[in-house]
Amino acid sequence: MPLFDALPRTAFDPGLWVDGKKLMGKKLAELLRHHIKEETAKTSLKPGLAVILVGADAASQIYVAGKEKAALELGFDSRIVRLPADVTQEALVSEIHRFNLDNSIHGILVQLPLPEHLNESQILQAITAEKDADGFHYLNQGKLAAGIAATLPCTPAGVALMLRELVASNGVHHADLIGRHAVVVGRSNIVGKPMAQLLLSGLNMTVTMCHSKTHNLQRFVADADVLISATGVRGVIDESQIKAGAIVIDVGMHRIDGKVTGDLNLAAIESRVSLYTPVPGGVGPMTIAMLLYNTYQNAMRAAGNTRQIA
Ligand code: NDP
Repeated sequence: MPLFDALPRTAFDPGLWVDGKKLMGKKLAELLRHHIKEETAKTSLKPGLAVILVGADAASQIYVAGKEKAALELGFDSRIVRLPADVTQEALVSEIHRFNLDNSIHGILVQLPLPEHLNESQILQAITAEKDADGFHYLNQGKLAAGIAATLPCTPAGVALMLRELVASNGVHHADLIGRHAVVVGRSNIVGKPMAQLLLSGLNMTVTMCHSKTHNLQRFVADADVLISATGVRGVIDESQIKAGAIVIDVGMHRIDGKVTGDLNLAAIESRVSLYTPVPGGVGPMTIAMLLYNTYQNAMRAAGNTRQIA
């Protein structure tokens, strides 16, 4: 199956979620959640999402609460397991195994980051590929690398869906991205690498990946038709170098003086770019919507129904 078959087959009117130059992920995510809810209601399925939270990190607690609320709103079963910060690797893996064997659970997520003493990759790989809600299982990562439909990592999948929605629409926001230059700044396994692969194999873009060792980053920034910032560091991209008419996606999330902001100073580029994601309200809400979509898809597959959302 082609890679983008793993994305919801939606084609919303851009007027419903694009506000001037702003790609309002918050609104697109709402549309998507509503769509998943309707599709789930047509079946007898009750998708189940299990979230394992280790320790008492304040930001993680907020993210987990948001995921639970969103899951319950869709009529999903939601289970949260809270483990102490000093939990052993064995105890955590045994919780995962419990959910692997639980037929009412279709998506398992371990909230990151984990305390230093835990082996993150071993823990993530303990989740079976069939119940992988985050697209981090090596089988799913391998399929993505091969350009085959798989459970996709939620943040880059959410961005890919936004861009595909733009391509699919024939309205004023039609964006023809095929063959254009996408520059991804950041190469993590969670965001940068899968993002590049989705742009390359899914959207047929010409992709450059940049990272902290890239020489003269700004020359790539200046040539980007689509620029994705996923560094988690402010000040890395010189906003004055961004190409006029570019589409800019800011994945970064920073809390400064209690306010959430992205990697970029978006106010400085608004007049020059064609479209951009605001922070907050851009990429973040798409991440949760894709998590729910992945869980729904896992539940459909477990029931022997491989039908995608129409
Ligand atoms: P990582 O820290 O794992 O990766 C950051 C990447 O940025 C690395 O590849 C690093 O390069 C690169 N980088 C760092 N500094 C520079 C620099 N000066 N020049 C060029 N590249 C640089 O972060 P994640 O990928 O996990 O997350 C990135 C951001 O996205 C964070 O702000 C995070 O909060 C946010 N995020 C937001 C989500 C959402 O839902 N909105 C979800 C997930 C993440 P190198 O590999 O060489 O070190």
